[in-house]
Amino acid sequence: MKRKLAAVAVLSATAMLTGVIQVSTSVAQASPAAPSLQAQAVQQHAAVVAVAKGQSGPIAKALALGDQEKLVAKDAIVDKDGTRHLRYERTYAGLPVIGGDLVVHQKADGAVKSVNKAVSAQITLPSLTPQIPADKAADQATGAVKSTVGVTVDSDESPIAGVHQTGKPELVVWATDGNPRLAYRTTVEGVRADGTPSSQILITDASSGKVLSTHEKIETAAGTGNGVFVGQVQLTTNQNGSQFELKDTTRGGQSTTDMNNGTSGSGSLFANPNNSFGDGTASNRESAAVDAQFGAATTWDFYKSTFSRNGIRNDGVGALSRVHYGSNYVNAFWSDDCFCMSYGDGNGDAAPLTEIDVAGHEMTHGVTAATAALNYSGESGGLNEATSDIMGTMVEFYANLPSNPPNYWIGELINLRGDGSPLRYMDQPSKDGQSADNWDPNVGNLDVHYSSGVANHFFYLLSEGSGAKTINGFNYNSPTADGSTLAGIGRDKAAQIWYRALTTYFTSTTDYAGARAATLSAASDLYGANSTEYNAVAATWTAVNVN
Ligand SMILES: [Zn+2]
Repeated sequence: MKRKLAAVAVLSATAMLTGVIQVSTSVAQASPAAPSLQAQAVQQHAAVVAVAKGQSGPIAKALALGDQEKLVAKDAIVDKDGTRHLRYERTYAGLPVIGGDLVVHQKADGAVKSVNKAVSAQITLPSLTPQIPADKAADQATGAVKSTVGVTVDSDESPIAGVHQTGKPELVVWATDGNPRLAYRTTVEGVRADGTPSSQILITDASSGKVLSTHEKIETAAGTGNGVFVGQVQLTTNQNGSQFELKDTTRGGQSTTDMNNGTSGSGSLFANPNNSFGDGTASNRESAAVDAQFGAATTWDFYKSTFSRNGIRNDGVGALSRVHYGSNYVNAFWSDDCFCMSYGDGNGDAAPLTEIDVAGHEMTHGVTAATAALNYSGESGGLNEATSDIMGTMVEFYANLPSNPPNYWIGELINLRGDGSPLRYMDQPSKDGQSADNWDPNVGNLDVHYSSGVANHFFYLLSEGSGAKTINGFNYNSPTADGSTLAGIGRDKAAQIWYRALTTYFTSTTDYAGARAATLSAASDLYGANSTEYNAVAATWTAVNVN
């Protein structure tokens, strides 16, 4: 494999040199400050993705992929020194390969340094003819969701009503478990008991009909609500005739709509002639909309100023926020299908879930989907949830609101538990009674909102260190599994390491051991191979029993 990898240097040095020079030069010129340069940065990102697209053939050759395999460019990142990280999905005989994703790391001259693959297995299928017809696979998928037998959805999630299949089962190659074979991908929809829509993708074996995997596409904050949180804030609105709309054309056109307690459609855009929205009470319909719109704007600004990221997909396009979703709906969720987040009004429709760390959490699900696309089950699901908690917390620190002093707890103002306690704790996740503080072999079997505890704990320890301390008026006492004492490197550096790992090294199948390796690579890239930060990452994973 090494010998094959070396070959790409020659190929790309001839074919791609122009692209390399253009890309690295323009990225160095970009400044996150001026709005006029934002469009430029979006163009540059598109240019790098185009380079990834142009290289897909030579890279497939260099990786010794078979004749039937093709790479499809998904995303790309260029470092200041010109190093490129090209993210691909894969097809086999034109069929999507689930678990075929990989990231190729190239030097500025095009030489391949290394590759992160979701699975390393070679893909060769003896036949492309399914043993089981598509309609039988669909029956098996809907039956599995109805009975939840043999389905690996989060164990404590509520049963689903109105289960029905949408679209046609699609033939795919299932490679995620390292044993590539022909399978069907079927989408099954319904509604959970708390009103959260469910849209699951099921993979069934095309030979045996066995359900191999389920993946819930609706990613929730798992909660309940109380009050309106941001206080007095500035909003960028859009004048349309005599009306001012909750639409922000300086941030990708992201807007907030009123679902009027319905659950379908995109709702009606908030607008009024005064250019003043809400009164701070939950009974005023605009108040929750102010939270949502401000949360989206702050999340946008956080990603832009911290990571030079232009919106959730890094394409300059803003997402939709939908408030007053459903009736007595005590949750919030992100959906890639509508590129939107939705917030319930909580118990009695009087307690919206629009706290800013929830906004940051939901939009970060969109960032994860656009990059590593961590599978929403098992350990990768915990890492997906933790990524949202980590960046949601960072958004809360970035906002630094007097009405919501930032902390390492999740949803501490929305009072989902009814006793004023936070939904989740990053300093000691087990304080919620269900989350894991440290890794153990069973962690992947927990609900993703609890297996996330290991990474949340890692992030807190890496940021602040172990033991008792008071930060910003909040009291923490973070333990370590091995009894070690950690100093912490600060949350800003910890967030840079996590983001780089997410966008550059994580794949759909990354587990906790993989996250350790990926964050070490990220720390090495950012701060050096023997840096304090690198050593802190290693010691902190050890302190949460990830070795
Ligand atoms: Zn979530």
